[in-house]
Amino acid sequence: MADNKGVMVFCETSGSKLAAIATELLGCGKKLATDLGQELMAIITGSNIGGIAQEAIAYGADKVYVVDNESLQDYQSDAYVQVIEKVAKQVMPAVLIFGQTNIGRDLTPRLAFKLNTSATMDCIELAIEPQSKQLLQTKPVYGGNARAIFTSDLFPQMATLRAKAAAPLAIDASRKGEVVNVSVQIDPATVKARVTQKIKEEVTGIKLEDAKTIISGGRGMGGPDGFKQLDELAKLLKGAVGASRPPCDNKWIADTAQIGLTGKIVTPELYIAVAVSGSSQHMAGCTGSKTIVAINKDPEANIFREARFGVVGDWKKVLPALTAKVKELVAAS
Ligand SMILES: Cc1cc2nc3c(=O)[nH]c(=O)nc-3n(C[C@H](O)[C@H](O)[C@H](O)COP(=O)(O)OP(=O)(O)OC[C@H]3O[C@@H](n4cnc5c(N)ncnc54)[C@H](O)[C@@H]3O)c2cc1C
Repeated sequence: MADNKGVMVFCETSGSKLAAIATELLGCGKKLATDLGQELMAIITGSNIGGIAQEAIAYGADKVYVVDNESLQDYQSDAYVQVIEKVAKQVMPAVLIFGQTNIGRDLTPRLAFKLNTSATMDCIELAIEPQSKQLLQTKPVYGGNARAIFTSDLFPQMATLRAKAAAPLAIDASRKGEVVNVSVQIDPATVKARVTQKIKEEVTGIKLEDAKTIISGGRGMGGPDGFKQLDELAKLLKGAVGASRPPCDNKWIADTAQIGLTGKIVTPELYIAVAVSGSSQHMAGCTGSKTIVAINKDPEANIFREARFGVVGDWKKVLPALTAKVKELVAAS
């Protein structure tokens, strides 16, 4: 559709600032917009969010659409779909991208339906094909065992991008851009769900998504006591503790620690998997790690195919020795 132009990024917010994923999407969007020779637009929705537009410009947006409305205070799909649909139909971007976050996962397929287009979820790379100028949407498939590149003939070309898949541009407060305030009327009758309560996820220490080092435990840890030992090592390495699904199902550790297809997707510098077999569903959440180290008593465990370094042995022997060595090195540094 020749009339569709520009790259539009949906910017999630965190308090009175852009969420980290928004800055990453702007970094990715800028590259796409440059390769298309078109402008980068941002859309920000919420209540009392005016100041965030300048931040989006500082992170690379040429034009920011701000939809500031009391009814948008909390994320609610009916209201958010209405306003983004309205803006997208007015602006007609060629590319419309979201983060692969709870909001992005909920919003993107609903909007794709409303805009009569398709959406590729959970991409790890987005690029412009030089000849056709189509959006190349790369995502892991078969539980992370392969990658597929999708394109779409429908406009806008929509996708979600995983956290940490792109880097933000360096913030530049002198960057100039245009802010367009969009006024909307939201009929309360069309908003079917209400937010009645918000429960903040309790995280002591570093969040898994932000951790540079993650020590993950699997079913082979045998119970919650093993996780206390993982915690000790994580503290020494200034990291966080994660888990495969069975320890979460067994309540050895909180559900929020689950890494994988149906858990969190993490991309630390160092991922130490202890007594984790390396199922494709688990690996889908951690293959983006820079270095994977495995400790497992089964030399045939799949995790050794994915790991850069491996120790074949019982974690009950290997982990105390590793922790003692790390303690010694930390004390000496
Ligand atoms: C739709 C779907 C979604 C799923 N989503 C997820 C997900 O998000 N995340 C996830 O993790 N799983 C997920 N699963 C489950 C997944 O298929 C596996 O069952 C799970 O990852 C296995 O966890 P594990 O490696 O801890 O356990 P196991 O496969 O049982 O492996 C335990 C490992 O511990 C080793 N071990 C045992 N004792 C010791 C010891 N003393 N010292 C050293 N090593 C030892 C064993 O050799 C073995 O390799 C999903 C499954 C489905 C069907």
